[in-house]
Amino acid sequence: MTHVLADMIETDFRSEPMKPAPESLRSLYDSESESKRKQVTRHGLWIAVAAYLLYSLTDVLFLRDVAAQTVAGRFAVGIVSLCLLELTLRLRASANLVDVLAATAVLSGYVVWLLTGWNTAETASFSYYMVFGAIFMMSLNLFFSFRFPVALAASTTTMAIFLGSLYAYMPMDLIYKLILGAFCISCFVFTSYVNLQLNRERFKVFLNALEARLQQNASEERGKALLRLSNTDPLTGLENRRAVDQRLRTRWQDWQENGVMFAVLLVDVDFFKRYNDCYGHQEGDRCLTTVAKGLYDAISHYDAAIGRYGGEEFIVIARVEDQKEVADLAETICRSVREMALPHGQRRDGISIVTVSVGASLTRGQSVKLEKIIHEADRALYTAKANGRNGVKLFDPDDPQSSDESEHIAAILKIALEQKLVSLVYQPIRGVQSGTIEAAEALMRLKMLDGAPVSPAVFIPIAERTGAIIELGRWAIRTVCVDLLAKDLVQVVSVNVSPIQLKMPGFAASVALILAETGVSGGRLAFEITEGVEMEMNSDILRCISDLKKMGVQIWLDDFGTGFAGLSWLRLIDFDTVKIDRSFLHDCDQKRGRTMMQDIISLLRNRTRTILVEGVETGDQQALMEEYKIDHLQGYHVGRPVPVEQFTAEPKKVEAVAGRKSSARR
Ligand code: C2E
Ligand code: MG
Ligand code: MG
Repeated sequence: MTHVLADMIETDFRSEPMKPAPESLRSLYDSESESKRKQVTRHGLWIAVAAYLLYSLTDVLFLRDVAAQTVAGRFAVGIVSLCLLELTLRLRASANLVDVLAATAVLSGYVVWLLTGWNTAETASFSYYMVFGAIFMMSLNLFFSFRFPVALAASTTTMAIFLGSLYAYMPMDLIYKLILGAFCISCFVFTSYVNLQLNRERFKVFLNALEARLQQNASEERGKALLRLSNTDPLTGLENRRAVDQRLRTRWQDWQENGVMFAVLLVDVDFFKRYNDCYGHQEGDRCLTTVAKGLYDAISHYDAAIGRYGGEEFIVIARVEDQKEVADLAETICRSVREMALPHGQRRDGISIVTVSVGASLTRGQSVKLEKIIHEADRALYTAKANGRNGVKLFDPDDPQSSDESEHIAAILKIALEQKLVSLVYQPIRGVQSGTIEAAEALMRLKMLDGAPVSPAVFIPIAERTGAIIELGRWAIRTVCVDLLAKDLVQVVSVNVSPIQLKMPGFAASVALILAETGVSGGRLAFEITEGVEMEMNSDILRCISDLKKMGVQIWLDDFGTGFAGLSWLRLIDFDTVKIDRSFLHDCDQKRGRTMMQDIISLLRNRTRTILVEGVETGDQQALMEEYKIDHLQGYHVGRPVPVEQFTAEPKKVEAVAGRKSSARR
């Protein structure tokens, strides 16, 4: 529509001046100027009537004998005209009708004055006075803003009346009549011409204004479209990160200035990489679009906005009153995606549909930085994932994992190697048959700057979250090779590795380099993968494990029985050793526990070469495990983790078997 109008205007500007404008432009002009025209005519008529009535004075001065009639006539015409004018306006008559009414009023004023003054005895005055007919004509053509046809019709009639009365009025000389007639005709021609020009000018001004308006609208539209584009995620149509950041800043300001609370919820599609790997990127995109739409609908009942924050991560920013409302929103989000039931058959966690994990954080008294609330939501999301995904987690400042302490540890981890705050201790592993220390497990230790130790259960998850584990893990492998293996202090050393390390491209190559540099053969190094850690056995990890195995590196399964994936991992990977979690051993003081342990052992016997039991703390436990034909034992009873200087692979004196026999547990 805009383009069509702009083209019409352009064509009209270029066409012949006398050529009529297209009908649509004309009618637009009429409709747009309608109310203004009525106003102008109304004002004009009120002023004209006032002037007309004022001229009563000249009647009294020059036409004294008929002044009573002319003045009465003036008032009658004036009052009737104004009444009719106001009435038509009230009845919402068209501007054309109002104009015709005003033109008729002017004509009537002229005619009534002529008729009431016609019989005056002041013939000379009256004949001079007739020159005022021209004034009526001027007013019709110039004073009002009548459209040309109305003005022309009215002024032609005025001219006709003027000329007619001029010739009908006897007392005047012919020459006087001729001159006055010529004056009247000239007046008619000039004023009509000026009216025509004025009307054209008005139309041109309208066209110019319309063109400017169209251009302005077009550029505003273009601006808006550009803004929309720069704020929209092309795949999902949601707001993109840029728009989200802006929204966050606005919310933050509102919180700082007016205390209006808000929550940030990070929503991450679970196992999305697997989804992409399995179904292909196109399907992956479709999945994200569908989830985005579902999330958008899910939050529609809240005062919230959603955007795509990156990859498979969405962000919801919501105005909320309290934690309960945040929890409710987070649950709604999680449930809505579950209810979509989009198939995802490659998860390996027993669920076969697409789900999301949600981490949320709410503004609190001490929130001093916008980044902090995002960071908190991110940490909550991490915990939600670590808790098994498909769930929500609200940031809890009292949670030790979320405390400032963990921030502190994250900072320490960055400088740990350089400041020698990290070290390794070695725990011996005894071969049951040989009775000697055949291996050792390397365990990482961290101390704070003041020397206070930090438990691996605390710092390892932080190192994994921050990525520090990559560097620390590489350092651990090298240290093990240099400190123990290269010096032949023990035959095999196992090092715990995180899934993050295994996923890292080039991990196997870096191990190969360390082995080559230190001259250690691959078979003397073992990597422990913890079954308790919920780990996606994706193709990257499997490839890495296969590369490591090709170098001879042993792969051990740690903490067997604590996670849900153990059995499926046993199918996928040929583990050199499986370490049964110490909790099973500790349950062996009851019959049920012992049966369980025996079941686990017989299950593993067919699948793996070596079985190791962790957490052997007493002679009784050791004796029992020996009886169960376990291959390797590890635990405080065998030896506590010690620094390399104290580590000795000398066979610890094998405990007397007496304890075994006397044990009442069997
Ligand atoms: P894990 O690999 O299962 O290591 C065994 C843990 O059990 C060690 O705790 C060890 O000190 C403890 N332990 C050994 N014998 C006994 C016993 O007889 N009784 C009891 N109650 N505990 C015993 P630690 O050193 O605190 O390590 C905890 C976990 O931290 C490890 O469990 C491992 O998952 C992780 N970790 C330790 N070092 C590293 C590392 O270098 N890299 C990675 N990725 N993880 C590590
Ligand atoms: Mg271990
Ligand atoms: Mg273990």
